[in-house]
Amino acid sequence: MLTGKRVKIKAKGKIFEGIVMPSFTGNLVLKLDSGYNAGFCEYELIEVLEEVKTQIRGAEISKREDLPNVKIISTGGTIASRVDYRTGAVTSQFTAEEIISDVPEIAEICNVDAELLYNILSENMKPNNWIELARRVYEALKKYDGVIITHGTDTMHYSASAVAFMLSTPKPVVFVGAQRSSDRPSSDAAMNLLCSAKLSISDVGEVLVCMHGSTSDDFCYAHRGVKVRKMHTSRRDAFHSINAKPVARIDYPSLNVEWLSWRFKRGERDLKLFDKLEEKVVLIKFFPGLGSDLIEYFHSKGYRGFVIEGTGLGHVSTDWIETLKKICEDSIVVMTSQCLYGRICDRVYDTGRDLLKAGVIEGEDLLPETALIKLMFLIGNYGIEKAKKLVKINLVGEIESRSDY
Ligand code: ASP
Repeated sequence: MLTGKRVKIKAKGKIFEGIVMPSFTGNLVLKLDSGYNAGFCEYELIEVLEEVKTQIRGAEISKREDLPNVKIISTGGTIASRVDYRTGAVTSQFTAEEIISDVPEIAEICNVDAELLYNILSENMKPNNWIELARRVYEALKKYDGVIITHGTDTMHYSASAVAFMLSTPKPVVFVGAQRSSDRPSSDAAMNLLCSAKLSISDVGEVLVCMHGSTSDDFCYAHRGVKVRKMHTSRRDAFHSINAKPVARIDYPSLNVEWLSWRFKRGERDLKLFDKLEEKVVLIKFFPGLGSDLIEYFHSKGYRGFVIEGTGLGHVSTDWIETLKKICEDSIVVMTSQCLYGRICDRVYDTGRDLLKAGVIEGEDLLPETALIKLMFLIGNYGIEKAKKLVKINLVGEIESRSDY
């Protein structure tokens, strides 16, 4: 049985090396170091190189008294994934301890305790998961010097925003993910984790996202959790701070931290948890021709929080105005822009002025996803009327007072 072993073979006069995948056709299927699978019907086995660990041993973690203590909460995603030798697919199957035993250098930075909260791909996160996560982080912050959350990259900015609003933290809370799983040569998992470990014991007191800053293995950026977005499907430097500078740059392998913009400092805020989120809030992307009946539909289903991703400075078509006027009587409607970069200004064009008159609120320079979570948080904890006042106020760094042009 060669499955799961690393082998060297000769086929069509060339040498190939890779891990033998399960095959149901009788052909040899190798996972090459590039991450791609290749099938061979005729080949010569030259060497069996090594057994590949499909089961990672539980980490034996010895603690050092001179190091800070950090909790890693694992929620799943690619950072916690490896190839599944039964199917050849990348699946999420690792506990946090197993991640640590893959990246032993972390033990030089901090003592780590690990907790597996979820083992899911982040498209499966729901508001209830965010609440549970915020509660776990809150408990961990009572005992530990910092918290790292390993998370799938696709919806990491929603979760980071949710935790940032629900939790007033005096210590670092760092979300980290990976674009490539740790069994791939181009994996970003180890470097991202080491940089996030450095951040988790740093001088900061807020929720950050730590991911590759370039396509090389030379530095990571720490982004404010409420100002960041995944901007590329596959690049390792997919995460960008939008309408804000990154909070810090962490060089690799030195792990020197350079602070780049304003941040809450460690100890600046008290630890508090506001663990309610209103789920009946919706984010609607306007496109030319979309009728306002969509918004009426959600309203009829009991939704009272609406974030619109409008065009340009913050517009929808004029035929939405009457509907919005009615909706605004008992609901909160916040305008954001599908441009992402820049600030909403509904005082330039007639459509914008009509929207303001109808009761729509300008979402400043909020990212649409951050505005969605902010509304869930505000309505859940304070109700509609107070939410209308608070939505334009900067609470945790989600609104910058000035926009760069
Ligand atoms: N679909 C995955 C997720 O978001 C991708 C990743 O982890 O990067 O969970």
